[in-house]
Amino acid sequence: MIEFPAHPITPIGIIHSCYPQKFGIPRQPGLVKSSTGRLALLPPCDREEMVRGLDAFSHLWILFLFHGAVAEGWRPMVRPPWLGGQKRVGVFASRSPHRPNFMGLSVVRLMGIRREKKGLFLELAELDLLDQTPVFDIKPYVPYSDAVAGAHGGTIPPPGMVPREVLFTDEAEESCSIYEQRTGRQLRALITETLEQDPRPASQRRRAREYGMALWEVNVRWQAEGEGFLVVRIEGVEKGE
Ligand code: SAH
Repeated sequence: MIEFPAHPITPIGIIHSCYPQKFGIPRQPGLVKSSTGRLALLPPCDREEMVRGLDAFSHLWILFLFHGAVAEGWRPMVRPPWLGGQKRVGVFASRSPHRPNFMGLSVVRLMGIRREKKGLFLELAELDLLDQTPVFDIKPYVPYSDAVAGAHGGTIPPPGMVPREVLFTDEAEESCSIYEQRTGRQLRALITETLEQDPRPASQRRRAREYGMALWEVNVRWQAEGEGFLVVRIEGVEKGE
């Protein structure tokens, strides 16, 4: 047995994101520019001096727990979505949440740092994180070293090469406007960019059906329409004053 100092790790903060459920979350950060949220720093890490200087950076590394995958466990091999859900690779050759220790790593955009009565918050965008994700560490993204020129991505292709049109019914359009006025959040852009990534599992792409996708506190109902998508309606938006 190799000896090392025992060191329990506890979260330094919790993510509040636009994705309350796993379905619809993009496969990597940066794919959906409008996916926003905030990291609420927890004591003793909610002190302003601990983030002093961080606002000089546009992006951060977030090291987190795939808390929503723990109950499902992990396997030595996985079927990643970029292989159409058919072929298997080793879990360590994948970015699957179902891995030993369930550790996740994402580069996210830092929009600002806010001190409020309720605590200290990092405002974030370009997220691929489930709401309530526990965060263990944050580090500034350092392009000269972290962006490796000439690196090749194994067999993982960049997704979303097929441009997909996202249309809204009048009813869905109206719900977006009402929601945006009430909250100041860019719901329409979030829906469009999230659907452009085609969240459907590879096995279901041939089936005609309506999907429900939770974003913030609303439920977006949509279906495939030709090569694109139609947003049918948005449930949970209070109409009228
Ligand atoms: N950038 C990260 C995550 C890649 S996997 C990494 O490479 O480690 C991205 C998927 O993780 C998303 O599609 C979402 O379904 C899932 N996910 C995000 N946060 C999660 C969480 N807290 N628990 C379980 N799954 C999560």
